[in-house]
Amino acid sequence: MVYIKCTDVVAKVSDILDGEAGRLTRMRFYGHVMMCRNCRRYLAQFKRIKELAGKVTPDDLPPDFDQVMNFVIREIDKPDG
Ligand SMILES: [Zn+2]
Repeated sequence: MVYIKCTDVVAKVSDILDGEAGRLTRMRFYGHVMMCRNCRRYLAQFKRIKELAGKVTPDDLPPDFDQVMNFVIREIDKPDG
């Protein structure tokens, strides 16, 4: 089993949620997410943003959108998970 890194989770999350990733990629992705608290948080935030993005237009963003984005960006910028 090849383990993926936090940066790989960030890179793959969109494919995973869109169902475009293969079985092996999904196994590695969720294997890492299970082990990594930072990536669990990131995944939860990403799902939330994706949900919101599916419902609203750019002119109709929720008041806490910037807050959520800043949180996610801070998490991604952390040197290591
Ligand atoms: Zn991670």
